[in-house]
Amino acid sequence: MNNLILTPQEQQLSLLKDRLTHYKNKVLGYPISSDFDFTELHSFLKFSINNIGDPFEECNYRVQTTNLEREVIGFFATLFNADPNDYWGYITNGGSENNLCGLHTARKLYSDAIVYYSDAAHYSVPKSVDILNMKSCVIATTFNGEMDYADLEKKLAANKDKPAVLNLNFGTTMTEAKDNVAIVKEKLTACGIESYYIHIDGALSGSYGAFIEPRIPFDFSDGVDSMCLSAHKFLGSPMPAGVFITKKSIRDKILRPMEVIDSYDSTVTGSRNGHTPLFLWYNMEKMGVSGLKKRYYNCLEVTEYCVAELAKIGIESWVNPGAITVFFKETSLDIKKRWQLATVAGITHILCMPNITKQHIDAFVEDLIKEKYISVID
Ligand SMILES: *Cc1c(COP(=O)(O)O)cnc(C)c1O
Repeated sequence: MNNLILTPQEQQLSLLKDRLTHYKNKVLGYPISSDFDFTELHSFLKFSINNIGDPFEECNYRVQTTNLEREVIGFFATLFNADPNDYWGYITNGGSENNLCGLHTARKLYSDAIVYYSDAAHYSVPKSVDILNMKSCVIATTFNGEMDYADLEKKLAANKDKPAVLNLNFGTTMTEAKDNVAIVKEKLTACGIESYYIHIDGALSGSYGAFIEPRIPFDFSDGVDSMCLSAHKFLGSPMPAGVFITKKSIRDKILRPMEVIDSYDSTVTGSRNGHTPLFLWYNMEKMGVSGLKKRYYNCLEVTEYCVAELAKIGIESWVNPGAITVFFKETSLDIKKRWQLATVAGITHILCMPNITKQHIDAFVEDLIKEKYISVID
């Protein structure tokens, strides 16, 4: 009998687990994949793994997973069409660190550059600009969240004597809009700007950009300088993680030796989570390119289903090309809270992430039907 009485600590843990389990299945508004199983890796939590230093250099501290980290970086470098002899990267804490690293790298190359980013860019972009004390210029967006290229050209033309750093979106937070690198490069050429750096924020869509048809230019073959994704979004990870990739030739220009570990300091943070490369490597080994592609196609199917089901009850929604984000006018506060929906400027969205099934969509639509202000077409 006695062992049925929980200590206060056990009670807390049990409550926490119940709460997390309940909410985990009711996330429609945030790009989190929760369909993973890393049970096989549990015993690795007994190690204090720290990937301090540059993952492509030898380091004196050896409780590391940098060999797996390099494999993961290689996997995505290939997916992003990087030159096999000229890529470099590391596993970060997430998308915000990716953007900070991209802009920091750009500033190292062009200290007097102006950073151009759209008003739909993630909040980590203006924050990074602020941290780095860079000059910046905000570009308007069109209805779907994509950069307004005419506005970009106007603003580039007004500053054509200065190097340009382009922080482009490959999947904006609210509408999953993608800025087109090819068009942006045309505008740079039209303005006669030859010194520029292009960073792609692919937090969500970077993971499946290679499979989008028709193709949207976004990778190293299109002339970008750095590219990134958040690994806890489409790929799925128990802890936040990101993948940042640039060219080795760019990194070589900004390398800082670090005596204390006999390596180089080329990452934003010093000590780095050594478990995330292990989890990510395990995930990518299991998934492979074909599994990743299938994962994306499944999401597209649920996205289509979602649009159709919303249309059936008279709700008009929009999806950007190749996107798994369905956006529409905001719902009631009650529904917003129940399904953890993000709302910005009267627009809300559903992310048809890999763990979201047609049953989730059905349950959501049922909730909408119960709402009085939504008209049901019969
Ligand atoms: C989520 C997101 C980020 C930031 O990612 P974190 O991993 O939360 O730091 C960056 N950019 C875009 C477009 C995002 O949607």
